[in-house]
Amino acid sequence: MSVCNFCTLRGIRSRAKAEGATVHVENGNVFVVPKGEKLDTSVDKKGNHGPQFVAWLMEVTGTCCC
Ligand SMILES: [Zn+2]
Repeated sequence: MSVCNFCTLRGIRSRAKAEGATVHVENGNVFVVPKGEKLDTSVDKKGNHGPQFVAWLMEVTGTCCC
């Protein structure tokens, strides 16, 4: 563990912004929705998330703690 969840999420957000994508966080699950696509938070029978799922953050702190 080198970076905290706050920084992980910040990195995801900055990458998404560069691509024009939107970041959606739901119950700790982080999804990146490509420009022009709709949010897909679906989970298949095996418990696998869809292609927009990028990370699971147990707890996102309000500030950096790493
Ligand atoms: Zn940090």
